[in-house]
Amino acid sequence: MSLATWPQPISPQPAGSHNIVAYFSMEIAVTPEMPTYSGGLGVLAGDTLRAAADMGLRLAAVTLAHRKGYFQQHLTDAGVQSETTQPWSPEKVLFGEDPIISITIEDRPVAIRTWRYDMEGVTGHIIPIYFLDTNLEQNDPRDRVLTDSLYGGNGDYRLRQEAVLGMGGARILEALDYQPLVYHMNEGHAALLTIALLKQQIFGEPLESAGPADIEAIRQKCVFTTHTPVPAGHDRFSAEQSQRILGAERTALLERIGAFHEGLLNMTYVALRFSRFVNGVAMQHGKVSREMFPEYSIEAITNGVHAGTWTAPAVQEVFDRHLPHWRQDNLALRYAIDIPESEIAEAHAESKKALLTAVKERTGVELRPDIFTIGFARRAATYKRSTLLFDDPERLVKMARDFGGLQIAYAGKAHPADEPGKAMIRKVIELSHELSSDLLKIVYLENYEWNLGALLTGGVDVWLNTPKRPYEASGTSGMKAALNGVPSLSILDGWWIEGWIEGVTGWAIEDMETESEEANSLYEHLEQVVLPLYYQQPDQWRRIMRSTIALNGSYFNTQRMLEQYVQNSYFPEIAVPRAISVPEPVLAR
Ligand SMILES: *Cc1c(COP(=O)(O)O)cnc(C)c1O
Repeated sequence: MSLATWPQPISPQPAGSHNIVAYFSMEIAVTPEMPTYSGGLGVLAGDTLRAAADMGLRLAAVTLAHRKGYFQQHLTDAGVQSETTQPWSPEKVLFGEDPIISITIEDRPVAIRTWRYDMEGVTGHIIPIYFLDTNLEQNDPRDRVLTDSLYGGNGDYRLRQEAVLGMGGARILEALDYQPLVYHMNEGHAALLTIALLKQQIFGEPLESAGPADIEAIRQKCVFTTHTPVPAGHDRFSAEQSQRILGAERTALLERIGAFHEGLLNMTYVALRFSRFVNGVAMQHGKVSREMFPEYSIEAITNGVHAGTWTAPAVQEVFDRHLPHWRQDNLALRYAIDIPESEIAEAHAESKKALLTAVKERTGVELRPDIFTIGFARRAATYKRSTLLFDDPERLVKMARDFGGLQIAYAGKAHPADEPGKAMIRKVIELSHELSSDLLKIVYLENYEWNLGALLTGGVDVWLNTPKRPYEASGTSGMKAALNGVPSLSILDGWWIEGWIEGVTGWAIEDMETESEEANSLYEHLEQVVLPLYYQQPDQWRRIMRSTIALNGSYFNTQRMLEQYVQNSYFPEIAVPRAISVPEPVLAR
């Protein structure tokens, strides 16, 4: 990685109160070179900020520096994963801000400073992103490493990190002169920011003196997006950890507001209790969340992806030619319905060539541009079921023979501690060795990250997703594929429930009792519909590519998503026009 070539619009810029939404996220994918994200949550955060920059929204973001970066994945021939860190130096590429603040964690003062990255939108508007850093000489060695590892370490480390992100972040914004009108917690990791705000609200008095009106004042400023459809996925800590790390005063408050469930401090409850607006990340995820937290009112705002980022270069050229304002106005993609199908097909062929070249370079395997290619890439968590496609390997082999060829490109990292996830990667790689032939080629690409994600979602012919329902809160990689005219073949879970129009934007794998019945539905779709269309009705296939862009690319983007956040979550009391630069006087109160 070359730091010198980073696209860095650094300029000393006065921070300040003109930024009205503060967006907190444990991970943010800012550029492909900055290893400060692990997967979907970080990419969503980055795409949200890119849309905010394009739309001129006054927003500032807070995250951690993650000096060691998220891990890089290495795979042996046999599919055994190992990991290395990707250290980076914020001081070399970001703008250092002056203030140093201090918060108490585990009875010690922890000093925190911050580095700023300026993210620029299509019209030149800038969104500052603050990377919190505890690697300061005055800190205890145990605290200097707190902003090193994203999702590394044990529960103690995580709780300390969340204290830095939430409480440290709120305090740093204050020191930088921000007076945000809205604090947006992207997932529960940042929920402790509410404690810092409450302390400000009562002018530093002991938290026990905070009354219902004080708590309500914080609630009026905070909004929360939950991303996790299963109870075990929510961040939880023991009462002992809370007492020891956060201290008695904060723990007593957290107990008082009902953030302890089943004896555990639950960050989702902290955020729920302190937010005036809460949303899940797709329609169905909203429903699932309401069932999980029936005492709260939870809306849904379906995720999106940043159109300018996830559209492949050749397809961007087509949009630039036919829909000149699509980057500022993603709704213009609806008019892709009028683009000649041949131009979309030719652009996609370019994207496919780029993918095949990368596959050749990385694996030595030569895939063919005229052969139908399935893409499957995501975190190797067991609920994503990357082995479902191999439920009946013989059937896959027969399909490849009957239709004259089939190619499958896989990628995905397993969390270093996730043994079942690692076993699943091994299984896919073993099967790829066993089954690969002249007609059936299966490759597993190492180290799934931003660039590989872009190559795959742009370059394959169909995007396959086979999660176990209802574990996929939203999923976004199928949305990236849609922008590139790549239809999905997916289980009806997450965003796909909303994006699916059978035979127009892709195909649904039916919801069945058992895994092998679902695999059967997947095979039937491939054998009876998808492969015959691709190989025997290329004109019809192109039409599907085009309707996928027009219907799903125009909707499942972060511009539409952020407009919904502005209207429903951030500023529900104001009728905000589509151009979102909220005029200052309207908000002065
Ligand atoms: C888009 C993206 C994701 C999100 O993937 P889903 O499986 O759709 O949730 C994860 N990782 C990377 C690198 C991505 O680009």
